[in-house]
Amino acid sequence: TWSTVPAGPPDPILGVSEAFKADKDPRKINLGVGAYRDDQGKPYVLNCVKKAEEILTASKPDKEYLPISGLPEFTKNAAKLAYGADSIPIASNSVAVVQSISGTGALRIGGAFLGRFYPHAKTIYLPTPSWGNHTPIFRDSGLEVKTYRYFDKKTVGLDFAGLKEDLKNIPEKSIVLLHACAHNPTGVDPTPEQWKEISDIIKEKQLFPFFDMAYQGFASGDTTRDAFAVRYFIEQGHQIALSQSFAKNMGLYGERVGAFSLVTESPEEKARVESQLKIVIRPMYSNPPLHGAQIANTILSNASLYGEWETEVKGMADRIISMREKLYDMLSGDLKTPGEWSHIKSQIGMFSFTGLQPGQTKALAEKAHIYMTADGRISMAGLNGGNIEYFAESVDKAVRG
Ligand code: PMP
Repeated sequence: TWSTVPAGPPDPILGVSEAFKADKDPRKINLGVGAYRDDQGKPYVLNCVKKAEEILTASKPDKEYLPISGLPEFTKNAAKLAYGADSIPIASNSVAVVQSISGTGALRIGGAFLGRFYPHAKTIYLPTPSWGNHTPIFRDSGLEVKTYRYFDKKTVGLDFAGLKEDLKNIPEKSIVLLHACAHNPTGVDPTPEQWKEISDIIKEKQLFPFFDMAYQGFASGDTTRDAFAVRYFIEQGHQIALSQSFAKNMGLYGERVGAFSLVTESPEEKARVESQLKIVIRPMYSNPPLHGAQIANTILSNASLYGEWETEVKGMADRIISMREKLYDMLSGDLKTPGEWSHIKSQIGMFSFTGLQPGQTKALAEKAHIYMTADGRISMAGLNGGNIEYFAESVDKAVRG
């Protein structure tokens, strides 16, 4: 029956982990997948998460189904975290929000909803490059995917002129995907001033902004600061779509906790939109998982756990920032590795787009047992006090050929 099914390629990101697992060398390093590691290279369960789980266990919860749109307290608190508790859409009860299977699920719900109901366009524009899963998510949700310029390989920074020119030239009312902070894979974000210009163009061209916020708190260590773009757009009167993930900022990767929201005109419009979001969700997976949303909600609704969470998010962000500084110092200082490496320090969030070429990343895997995606993206969280020197020396060798 399946003789005509061709073998598909391995996932470009998760495939890196498979190659890493198969490698038996004790020096091996996995910088492929974007999951936080502590300074011993171990997965990290946040203390606030452990405490939330204890509180939950003590409350002896049942395992009943959640509603189609998820745990109502969780979605309310998630929206407050993103938009700000005092923001107009929250205060006026006009944010339509549903729980999602982490950020991926939120993007997929959003894509499907826009495909069905956004009246003006069926094309979404993604930055080049973007997270590798964006294109298949939106294509499978029934949208056409096109791109706008974002990254400048020459400066290893933002191609702001190219970005503006492209946004000005795409058809009016198109959908535009924006990374709210900690752009993946480049680690390059617009400055607040640049966001203001982007907002102006989007307004002028009546484009529809769809924010993907997978790293709130993870970029700067401050959840409010990382929400700047989203909140600025809201203040400017944009009706946005928003995907949120709690995978990184609460370390809840496998629990699949997220939310999708749309800013609407009124509570009445919000209710209509929510009813249709439920109709999108019901045939996909009926209703979302319970446990992770309960954990996240316990943290978001308990002042002392919330405070602890903020400290822990900052701790993760700071460790990554310190790895950036160390790596930069080693490459440009001690090793004098040919090339310009300051982007390692200026990039933001979990990833650094190193500028390493495919031949060099291949050599790093084969000779040094160091694994990253072929585009030269490294997860900074995979570096630690124990392996950063070996990594820097190996990069130096690969660059010198
Ligand atoms: N968007 C971006 C930009 C991401 O980097 C990620 C995680 N790699 C996601 C969305 C979604 O991840 P998850 O489904 O695990 O929340």
